[in-house]
Amino acid sequence: MDRMTLKARAKVNIGLDITGVLDNGYHLVDMIMQTLQMHDEVTIRKKRERGIEIRSNLRYLPVNENNIVYQAAKMMVDEFQIQDGLRFDIKKEIPVAAGMAGGSADAASALIGINRMYQLSLSTEELCIRGLQLGADVPYCIQGGTMHATGIGEKLERITAMPDCFVVVVKPKASASTKVVYQKFDQLEQVKHPNMTQLLLQMEGMNLNGIADAMGNVLEQVTISMIPEIATIKEVLLKNGALNAMMSGSGPTVFGLYTNRAQADRAVAELSNKKSIQKACVTKFWNK
Ligand code: ATP
Repeated sequence: MDRMTLKARAKVNIGLDITGVLDNGYHLVDMIMQTLQMHDEVTIRKKRERGIEIRSNLRYLPVNENNIVYQAAKMMVDEFQIQDGLRFDIKKEIPVAAGMAGGSADAASALIGINRMYQLSLSTEELCIRGLQLGADVPYCIQGGTMHATGIGEKLERITAMPDCFVVVVKPKASASTKVVYQKFDQLEQVKHPNMTQLLLQMEGMNLNGIADAMGNVLEQVTISMIPEIATIKEVLLKNGALNAMMSGSGPTVFGLYTNRAQADRAVAELSNKKSIQKACVTKFWNK
């Protein structure tokens, strides 16, 4: 096999809480992550000249060692002494720096793809060990589906998948640095924690309305203080019939849950008209 294309799927957080901070500054989290059908495409090609080459449809994405796909490929090429050169074409659909783990999903695809292409027979667990060295979300992206993550995000447990519905994803043009969001969180005097026990219970029961009521993201108040538009997007999603709407990860992407496709389309139409919006679309959850 000299060429292969993989889907690198985005995620949203159905719940995100921070339960503590370690001495080294890492945050202890309690999160529920769910894969979306929205995806990048990562095409891997063998080439005669040695070296790792990255191409992308986004001009501003790094194509050198700063691209996480390059780092994933380098790790595998070095460890398994791969003699071929490798070229990666990354077709980005997932908004960048958006709280949707786009880079981590691309890196996961690179690890999975190289493992298959060179018949290295690494197990999922062995791939995850390597993935964790690239980023905290990479092991999750390797496995995909619905997971409860604890620790610093590395302890993953598969849980009941989200019930089927339409998911409207909205990325404002504004960006928020994950590092700054966490720093600002540490300075908060009053924190509004989501009820993760209730959320997990509702997820176990596959009760979409109960899940919508219980979902929450402790970082939302922080990122909204930096990008107030997040609150406006939530209002538009709710006004158009979303069961609930929430920011994913450290933001600024917001998503809304709908049982009615026409309402989801209306929300997208209204938001797409705004100059401040980079992307608004309808997708669905993806499960294994
Ligand atoms: P998370 O949900 O894990 O916080 P994110 O959506 O906030 O992820 P990414 O889209 O993964 O963030 O990208 C964050 C940074 O990583 C960007 O500044 C981008 O330039 C860099 N980067 C490197 N490689 C990639 C890649 N393949 N795709 C997207 N971003 C990449």
